[in-house]
Amino acid sequence: MKTLESYLCGRFVAGAGPGEVIVNPATEEPLARVSADSLDRGAALRFAREQGGPALRALSFAQRGALLKAACDAIVAHRNELLDLAVANGGNTRGDAKFDIDGATFTLTAYAELGAALGDVKVLADGDSIALARSPRFAGQHLRVPRHGVAVHVNAFNFPAWGLAEKAACALLAGMPVVSKPASSSALVAHRIVEILVEKAGLPAGALQLLCGGAGDLLEHLGPQDVVAFTGSAETGMKIRRMDAVIRHSVRVNVEADSLNAAVLGPDVEPGSDSWDLFVKDVLRDMTQKAGQKCTAIRRVLVPLPLVDRVREELCDRLAGIVIGDPARDGVRMGPVATAQQHKDVREGIDALTRDGRLVYGVADLKPVGVPAGKGYFVGPVLIELEHGAEGRTVHSREVFGPCSTLVPYAGTAAEASELVARGQGGLVTSVYSDDTAFVHEAVLGLAPYHGRLFLGSAKIAEQSPGPGTVLPLLVHGGPGRAGGGEELGGARGLEFYTQRVALEGSRPVLDRIASRSGA
Ligand code: NAP
Repeated sequence: MKTLESYLCGRFVAGAGPGEVIVNPATEEPLARVSADSLDRGAALRFAREQGGPALRALSFAQRGALLKAACDAIVAHRNELLDLAVANGGNTRGDAKFDIDGATFTLTAYAELGAALGDVKVLADGDSIALARSPRFAGQHLRVPRHGVAVHVNAFNFPAWGLAEKAACALLAGMPVVSKPASSSALVAHRIVEILVEKAGLPAGALQLLCGGAGDLLEHLGPQDVVAFTGSAETGMKIRRMDAVIRHSVRVNVEADSLNAAVLGPDVEPGSDSWDLFVKDVLRDMTQKAGQKCTAIRRVLVPLPLVDRVREELCDRLAGIVIGDPARDGVRMGPVATAQQHKDVREGIDALTRDGRLVYGVADLKPVGVPAGKGYFVGPVLIELEHGAEGRTVHSREVFGPCSTLVPYAGTAAEASELVARGQGGLVTSVYSDDTAFVHEAVLGLAPYHGRLFLGSAKIAEQSPGPGTVLPLLVHGGPGRAGGGEELGGARGLEFYTQRVALEGSRPVLDRIASRSGA
C-alpha cells in the first residue's frame, strides 16, 4: 500500500511505524498509510525560517504572485487526477471534488492577480503618511512587513485542496514560508498537490512544506515571529490557543472553527418566486453538497410561521430525489461522510437535535447505490423541525457536521430572526432571503456583529449567486465567538495576519521612499 510521505527540509520522507490507514469512505477500501512518527518537525520549522523566509522576502509581490500563478497552472494541469483522488478519499461526488479543487485554483488565481497589482514592491504602505508636527517634514507612516517566522497551517478534513491553497496563497504572497498539515484522514489530495508543486511550480526551497500524519510536537517549536492558522473543531482550536509555546511567545493564532450558519426567509417572499427558489436551492445544496460537511453549510433554517408548511413540503420532496451512494458512480448526488468517527458524531448529533424537535425527513433504511452491503460511512439527509425557534436549545448550540438541517419557525420580524440567530454565539455566514429592503436592512444591523459574512439573497441576484456556502477569496472568511474569532482571505486583508505593522516616524521624504519603493 502507498505510504504518504511528508515533504520536509527539501525532501520527501516517511514517518516511522505503521501509522494510520486512509480509506475510501464509500467502500472502506484502504488507500494509503500515513505516519509522521519520528519526523523532525523542529528542523522543518527552522528550514522554513532560514531558507524559505529569506528567499520569499527577496522577491517582490509581483514575483510572489507569479509563483502562485505557476502553482495554479500546475494544479490545473493535473485537475482530473486530483478530482479522482478527491472522489476516492473524500467521499466527494465529482461536483463536490470540483468545489474543492477548483476553489483552490480560483483562490490562487485571485492572489496571483493581487500580487501582480501590488507590483514591484516588497513591503506594503498601510494608509497615507500622517503629519506629526506643524512642519510637513516630520511625518508618520504605517508599514506592513513580512514576519521573519514560519506560517504553520493546520487544516480540517473537508477541504484538503482549498484549505491548503487559501492559506498558502495569503502567506506566500505576504512573504512567509509555510508548513501545511492536512487532516490525516483525507491527506491524499494535499499530498499529491504538494508533489505536483514540488515538481512544477518552482517555489524556493523551504517556501512550502507538508506534514502528513499527526501534528505531534509541531506547535511546541513555535517562536515569536511564527503564526498558526488553524481550521477544525473548536476543541482542537482551544488546545492550540492554550499551548505553552503559543502563550510564551505571543504566537499569532487564527482559528476557523464551528459555526451554526443560518438562512432567514423573509416574510415577504412568495412561494415560487425567484427569491423563494433561490432560498430552497441554497438550503438543499448546503444539506447535500459534500454530505453537509462544509463549515459554511446552513444548519438552521428560519422560516416565518405561515410559510413553514410550504417550505417543509418542498424541501422534503426535493430531498427524496437525492441519489445517495458511491460518489464515483454516475447519477449519485451525495456520498458518505468522511470517516467512521464522522459517521458516529453525525448520528449522535442528529439524535441530540431530534430531542429538540421532530424528524420531518430522514431515510429509515438507507441503501447506498453501488456500495457493498454494510460498507461505507453513509448518513442520509435529515430535516428536523422545531415547534418554534425560541424553544430550541441544541439547535443553537451544537454543530452537526453532516447532511442535517433544522427548520426553525419564527414570527417573521427581523428583530426575532436576529435574536434567534445570535443564540448560535457567532458564525461564519448567515443568509437573508428577502426583497423587502427595510427587512433586509434591519436584519443586517441585527446579525452583523455576530458574523464574518452576510449573504443577502434576492430576486435581483438569484441567477448569478453561488450561494452562501461558497467562500470567495476577495471577501473575508471567519467569524466571531463559536466560529473561532478568526479572519482569513478578503483580498489584501488576508496578508495582514502574515505581516507586522510598524509605525515609522521620521522625515517625510525618507518615509515616502521606504513606503513606496524601497525593499525590506
Ligand atoms: P479536528 O479534529 O479539530 O482536526 C483539524 C486538524 O487539526 C486536523 O489536521 C488534525 O490532525 C489537527 N489536530 C488534531 N489535534 C491536534 C492537536 N492537538 N494539535 C494540532 N493539530 C491537531 O477537526 P476536523 O474533524 O478535521 O474538522 C471538522 C471541524 O472543522 C468542524 O467542526 C467544522 O466546523 C470545522 N471546520 C471549520 C471551517 C472554517 O473555515 N471555519 C472549515 C472546515 C471545517 P489529524 O487529522 O492528524 O488528527
